[in-house]
Amino acid sequence: MIDLQSNLRLKAILSETDRFPLGVELVSTRGTMTQQQTLKTRNFSADLTHSPRVDWVSITDNAGGNPQLAPIALGTPILYAGKEVIIHLTCKDFNRYALESQLWLLASQGFHNILALTGDYPIESFEGRAKPVFDIDSVALLTLIEKMNEGLEVTSGSARIPTKLDATHFFAGAVTSNFKFHENTLLPQYYKLEKKILSGAKFIINQIGFDSRKGHELLEYLRLRQLDHIPVVGNVYVLSPFVARLFNQMKIPGVILTNELNEICQKQGASPDKGKKFFHEFAAKQLAIYRGVGYKAGYLGGVHSYAEIEEILDLEKSFAPDDWKLFAREISFSRPGEFFLFEPDKATGLCRPGKVNQAWKKSLRERHSNKNVTLGYHLAKRFHSLMFEKGKGLAPLAEKICQKAKNPSQGPPGMRFIEQLSKAVLYSCQDCGDCSLEETAFLCPESQCAKNQRNGPCGGTRDGKCEVFDYECIWARAYDRLKYEGKSEQLLDHVPVIQNQGLRGTSSWANFWLGKDHTSKKAAAEPS
Ligand code: SF4
Repeated sequence: MIDLQSNLRLKAILSETDRFPLGVELVSTRGTMTQQQTLKTRNFSADLTHSPRVDWVSITDNAGGNPQLAPIALGTPILYAGKEVIIHLTCKDFNRYALESQLWLLASQGFHNILALTGDYPIESFEGRAKPVFDIDSVALLTLIEKMNEGLEVTSGSARIPTKLDATHFFAGAVTSNFKFHENTLLPQYYKLEKKILSGAKFIINQIGFDSRKGHELLEYLRLRQLDHIPVVGNVYVLSPFVARLFNQMKIPGVILTNELNEICQKQGASPDKGKKFFHEFAAKQLAIYRGVGYKAGYLGGVHSYAEIEEILDLEKSFAPDDWKLFAREISFSRPGEFFLFEPDKATGLCRPGKVNQAWKKSLRERHSNKNVTLGYHLAKRFHSLMFEKGKGLAPLAEKICQKAKNPSQGPPGMRFIEQLSKAVLYSCQDCGDCSLEETAFLCPESQCAKNQRNGPCGGTRDGKCEVFDYECIWARAYDRLKYEGKSEQLLDHVPVIQNQGLRGTSSWANFWLGKDHTSKKAAAEPS
């Protein structure tokens, strides 16, 4: 019998100190539960369910942007057989209504472990590409889950009487993309990681990667920020020549595999066993490294049979206790010029605990302009401080003018015309009415971010470029702008932005002055 209230098992598993638990990723398939491919997946999941060596099964949600059978279908038999299940929940296909509805369904069925993700951009589907949703992002989803765990406050009936719903018992986690190459793409990932933790993430799984120093650095970052009580799970994807090539060509958003490692993989793929032994040993070594540096558990993906898992785990078990230190030197595939937040430790090949990159620290005190610090940025800042600082400059006057307008949510027609024209020209404004320019260093997330990310970058960038379009990620550009101001570490120092779609088509200026947009909630939440 499933205990619908218990969310303690995964939490307990991730708190164990005398062993290294293991989760396995189960990728859902397209078709019903009786589809031939699904039958294979079901057989595999039955093996995982009954294995004492597998602590939980993690089921993907339309992985890679492809439509697939909902994870709850595969997860139900696993959960009801007594195994822990993590359900992946992404924001690409569901708006906030549908996400909340999914969460009620999951809670009602006894699923408490959620991996909250923004999600990959959709690719081809029925009769073409799906319209992506991205109504909210992973940070907002975590915030929603946290509120549901406290007992969501809703208003009901025509009298709008507030009611507190029964509290849920979710144990939510998040992913971080910690193998980024540039300073302006890596550090925003760390800052977003903190935001996810502050918004309710209770465990973290890192992105697939092949550089032990960067893997170690993630733990050091959490230690530096006094967040090392959050368990981190090390992600290991079992490679094959085909997958290595895909990763190397950056076909999987956010995953980096260097040319050097790809050459090794292709060479191994030409061996009589197609490199199987090598790839299994490589995965076992990665698990050993994660265990050695201090990750709380391992997470195995890219496996399709239980025999493969057994082989990898047996290999890992056969290693001597300190072998991982040698492996950490071996699996160290960074690229020339790559940015690291911590100094290297020549003795181990990892990073030096507590020793932050000195050149970076020095650069924080310097004020170098860069290609992203444009004249438009300087002008936008000036205009903003004149017009949009509560109680200062022209803001009180503008507030009065808007209050007296015939339609306050549009403001006076002349002002609205100037707003629409100037913002369309300067920012390609989409008139969403709940403006985030202040938080994104004056780069519009509606028009210049494929996923409308308002709480930091998604993990999908390819060498600084957007996962979807051929332009630089707005968050990398925003980082550069704030670094010039000496404020790069404050890039995401704002309460989670949850866009109000009800303001679309209204004046973002008037909404600010009249306290209707998200910035008024921010002012209420932040200490003065
Ligand atoms: S109002 Fe919305 S669409 Fe317009 S610039 Fe601001 S964030 Fe972008």
